[in-house]
Amino acid sequence: MNYKIVERSPFARIARMVLKSRNVAMVLGKSIHLSGVDRQTFLEDKGWFEHELCHIRQFQEHGYFRFLWLYLKESWRVGYYNNKFEVEAREAGMKHKRFFSEQLKKEAETIQPSGLPQPADVKKKV
Ligand SMILES: [Zn+2]
Repeated sequence: MNYKIVERSPFARIARMVLKSRNVAMVLGKSIHLSGVDRQTFLEDKGWFEHELCHIRQFQEHGYFRFLWLYLKESWRVGYYNNKFEVEAREAGMKHKRFFSEQLKKEAETIQPSGLPQPADVKKKV
């Protein structure tokens, strides 16, 4: 996906003050604006990153100004949390987390116990 990251963004700083949040990421078009968080920390949080990528897709899908309008309208109507664009982005972020935990589970299952020290009685049976 084509995206740009803007660190110490004044837009994100305003959003941060309005939301009274320690760190904020906000998407405008193809740019992810950050405040209170650096690029690396943001990218390492895959769920958060996926969430913002979903907003970039929404901008592409609806068009820049139309999406801003639809987003604001949703927020006025149902609030931030129930805003359908936030619900979708939240699911995108969660999907990643689910995938990640499944990967970990798979990796745990593929560990062969043969290299581990075995109890003495197991050896006797063989
Ligand atoms: Zn969001």
